[in-house]
Amino acid sequence: MIHCRSVSDVVAAMTRGVVPRGGGHCFAGRSSSGVVLDMSGLDRISVTGRPQIATIGAGARLGQVYAALHTYGRTIPAGCGDTVGIAGLTLGGGIGLLGRQHGLTCDRLVGAQVVLADRRVVECDRDREPDLFWALRGAGGCQFGVVTELRFDTVPEPMTTRIEARLAGIPFGELVSAWQAWAPDAPDGLTVNLTLEPAQAVLFGASTLDEATTRSLLREFIGHAGVELRAGLPYHRLKSSFADPRDLPVRIRSEFFSQSLSERTISSLLTDLEGRLAFTAMGGAYNRVAECATAFAHRGERFLLEHVAEPGDPWVDRSWATAHADGSGRVYPNFPDLALDDSASAYHAGNHARLVAIKQAYDPHRFFDFPQAI
Ligand SMILES: Cc1cc2nc3c(=O)[nH]c(=O)nc-3n(C[C@H](O)[C@H](O)[C@H](O)COP(=O)(O)OP(=O)(O)OC[C@H]3O[C@@H](n4cnc5c(N)ncnc54)[C@H](O)[C@@H]3O)c2cc1C
Repeated sequence: MIHCRSVSDVVAAMTRGVVPRGGGHCFAGRSSSGVVLDMSGLDRISVTGRPQIATIGAGARLGQVYAALHTYGRTIPAGCGDTVGIAGLTLGGGIGLLGRQHGLTCDRLVGAQVVLADRRVVECDRDREPDLFWALRGAGGCQFGVVTELRFDTVPEPMTTRIEARLAGIPFGELVSAWQAWAPDAPDGLTVNLTLEPAQAVLFGASTLDEATTRSLLREFIGHAGVELRAGLPYHRLKSSFADPRDLPVRIRSEFFSQSLSERTISSLLTDLEGRLAFTAMGGAYNRVAECATAFAHRGERFLLEHVAEPGDPWVDRSWATAHADGSGRVYPNFPDLALDDSASAYHAGNHARLVAIKQAYDPHRFFDFPQAI
């Protein structure tokens, strides 16, 4: 492992088979084998100018990012999990509790510095290396070069209401039907996700709407079931209040859904519920970006469904196959799935051909290569 503290350390380390590691969370272990570059020494964060642009070292993790931006009264829409790396998250998209309002993390990216395979250090944005800049927004980690710095157009840090409910007494089938018809169409300021395990159903999310409006919208969805709301939390405090079960060793398979699951599929999923089903609401600002505007191709989806269990648990495949009957066939690049038959279409859909051309232009000798790489 090579510890990088500067861009010149990265340049000096550039060799075939190099793999940068940000948070080290890649579900396919892509930052764990090869010549691993530990980027954690490049974690400086500052905010300057108007609009207020955050410059973030590629080794920073989300907990650091939220805390540092908070001191400027700013934030970015990004994921849960304090130890997730900003680079890995952004390069594959970046789904989070402010995403229905402000889009993916990569939608706020306005520029990046990248060390290419030939050791050139390039700046990219809409005007400089525009193809590379397009590709960095959603194609997935370590495809074209080692990113050393990311620049984001920040948003004001909102005050939020934290939403959590352990629901008892509502049949799971009714809950899934109601959630999938409601959550993806809720106002942008309200994100409510649903997880189901054999013995419990949990709703969790965030609202930037006022508390009374939040309460009344939730009532539309689950009537008077007890939902715990904690209003008046700055966004960074809300994020750290949710533990993320993906922090443990798990196996995950997932898929996007552009339409609701049928009653039949719901019933089959629930009859065979052995692990955890996690439903994440999409829609809102995620879908107000054209599919070809960035490399992230999944702009018409209503929700993402994860099947999560312990490593090696075959239930994950069974449950995934059941839900796949109604799925859009598209898979989030940040949840790599080595069991996919056609990963190129699943991850990149109509953007794949352009990504292949960009790979050829920036990494013709495939320095950066791994199963399912572009
Ligand atoms: C606890 C937990 C919570 C999560 N929550 C969310 C969530 O809320 N929303 C969401 O969208 N996703 C979430 N994820 C998934 C997460 O987005 C991916 O696992 C992501 O790839 C992690 O990035 P990383 O930097 O932590 O991992 P790493 O393994 O370090 O990196 C992931 C990939 O990016 C590459 N990479 C890393 N740094 C660089 C760089 N500087 N330049 C080029 N390539 C680089 C790596 O080589 C690897 O291929 C979560 C994952 C976990 C484990």
